[in-house]
Amino acid sequence: MGPNYIAFLKIWNQIVLVIAIAAALVGFFIIISHILKAAALKDSKKKYDYLRDNDTKKIFYFIFLVALGLTLYANTLETQTVQIHIVWFFVRLFVTICIGTLIIYLSYLLLKYAYPTVLSRKLKKWRYKPRVNPRTGNKMKLLSEEEEDVHLDEGMQAEENVFSVDYDVWVDPDTNDVHIEKYPGHLEAEQCNSCGFMTMKQIKEEIITPPTEHSEGETEKFYQCTYCKSKRSKVLKIARLEPGGYKLPDHVMFKEDERILGITLEIHIGDGKSKIYEFTSTEQARDFLKEFSLETMT
Ligand SMILES: [Zn+2]
Repeated sequence: MGPNYIAFLKIWNQIVLVIAIAAALVGFFIIISHILKAAALKDSKKKYDYLRDNDTKKIFYFIFLVALGLTLYANTLETQTVQIHIVWFFVRLFVTICIGTLIIYLSYLLLKYAYPTVLSRKLKKWRYKPRVNPRTGNKMKLLSEEEEDVHLDEGMQAEENVFSVDYDVWVDPDTNDVHIEKYPGHLEAEQCNSCGFMTMKQIKEEIITPPTEHSEGETEKFYQCTYCKSKRSKVLKIARLEPGGYKLPDHVMFKEDERILGITLEIHIGDGKSKIYEFTSTEQARDFLKEFSLETMT
């Protein structure tokens, strides 16, 4: 081949090698800073939230960038053969892109279907690690679903029943100090009965009987596995409505804690719609709820 082609190959090798190294370095930077950040979070709940939101994503970025780097690097190899004819240049390009794409696609599938089982085990460890009372240094005890209802007001209980929000209540056995953590149950997939992956997700919810001030209601939740597509549903009770409407759990959650900077209120309507409101104080939020009607929501 002509001298132009040889010169082009030389520049190609230099540029592609630099990009390959840069991609791999960025990949390693992402995964290492992810590991360090998770390790630096001492609060178990914060670590839980961080891992739930970031772990799978960061691992995928890492694999993607390293695979990209390797694919590019492979395009600087076998230069002797490629120099013979330009056709070999495109053969190399095609083959390496195929292999690179395959690696990325396979890791995407593994992360989507197999990794949630591993991640869920990791998350459980942080969710159930005994909390320490910052005031006394005592180890706190996690209450069971039945015991914890005493510490949750009816609003929180109803939320637990209807919207798959989970509250974990930790109690210091010596001082009775209470520490409550909120987990968004409906965002987390459960284990599928058919295929065993942690890929069972709630797809919709229908309220069969709405609750009144005098009687409990009933709601049916529908689940579908994102992997094997099998479906199931379950019927759950909704707690009775509180006379007088909404109530904020300020006596439990916001007492004596001046570090709280804001309150986020998420209002759910029956058909799965919800809206988020932000407030700077419990007073502000309480006033809002007094005035609140469904018409103001739209
Ligand atoms: Zn399944």
